[in-house]
Formats: sequence, C-alpha cells, structure tokens
Amino acid sequence: MTTAELLKNRAGFEDKLRKLIGRPILLIELDMFALPCGCAGITANTRGLEVDDLEVFEPQILPLLKEMASNLDVKSTVTFARLVPGSSIVASLNWRVLCPRCYPEFARGEGKTPRPDLYILQFERKK
Ligand SMILES: [Zn+2]
Repeated sequence: MTTAELLKNRAGFEDKLRKLIGRPILLIELDMFALPCGCAGITANTRGLEVDDLEVFEPQILPLLKEMASNLDVKSTVTFARLVPGSSIVASLNWRVLCPRCYPEFARGEGKTPRPDLYILQFERKK
C-alpha cells in the first residue's frame, strides 16, 4: 500500500461514480484508518452524493465498492454510507473490518438503515 495507490484509487473511484451518476460527485478525501478498538478500514469523504443515488444505483455501485476494497487489500466486514441525519446527504462511504467488539453492534441492526446516520451497502455475517 503506497500513497501513489491511494491517489490512483481516489481519482479512479471518483471518475467512475461521476460517469455512473452523471453529476460532479467529489471524493474530497480517501483515508485508511485504524481505531483503538481494533476496527480498521477505508473512508471516502464525499460531496454531492445523495441517498437516492445509492438506492437507484446500488447494483452498479456495489462492484465499485468491492473493487476499491480489493485494490487496497481491505477485507471489509461491512461497507456503509454515513448519512447526515434528517437530510439526503451522504457524508462518506466506509469500508470497515470490524473488531469482535463492534461486530455485534452491526449484526444486531436490521435492514438498510439500522440507524438514522447509516445506510448499509454490504454486510458479511459470521456463521
Ligand atoms: Zn471496533
């Protein structure tokens, strides 16, 4: 994992989202993160992306999300959009490898929006 790869993936993902949705979506920042609890992953902060876009284009967005995870070698347990509650704004897309402590919190949730600030795009349930 190099910064050059991060840059390439930021630009590539932004370009594909724009072509798909047909509006100037911005990926203002692409980050890799590690949390004290043990969770780790990627965050893509977005501007111009709306919840409607996720609903309409979900079948086309899912392969792009998968591609990003695989390019950056992140085996995400959950991929979700962080929403601004009470609005249609998508603040970020998040790929997270859940730690054992945080996993139940996501596994407990039902449906696409277990919380007003979350829109679940992919969840790998443990057997
Ligand atoms: Zn955690």
